[in-house]
Amino acid sequence: MLKIAKERIDILFKLADKEFSEHPERSHRYVEIARNIATRYNIRMPRIWRRRFCKNCYLFLKPGYNSQVRLSKSCVVIRCFECGSTMRVPYIKEKKGKRRERIESHIIKKRTDE
Ligand SMILES: [Zn+2]
Repeated sequence: MLKIAKERIDILFKLADKEFSEHPERSHRYVEIARNIATRYNIRMPRIWRRRFCKNCYLFLKPGYNSQVRLSKSCVVIRCFECGSTMRVPYIKEKKGKRRERIESHIIKKRTDE
């Protein structure tokens, strides 16, 4: 059951990402549904999606569209353009950092490509 819930969250965020350019209001709705599922089954948001919505207004965030992702020394700084709040996601303090490091270096690579 938990597995299904996680899969549904995954699907919802993927849909949100896909629909955002044309139907941002749907994306925000998908985040809401995903959050409801996470709460109901008492599961944590998958790490890859945790930074894709605002912790303040809970709207879906798409970097370069309604959010900005910057890297500081020890964390990823995400700025929500919808409500103007800033989130900091630390990325070096975790033990299981292997996968995460890979994701971060991917972001750094993407940024330098721009
Ligand atoms: Zn916000």
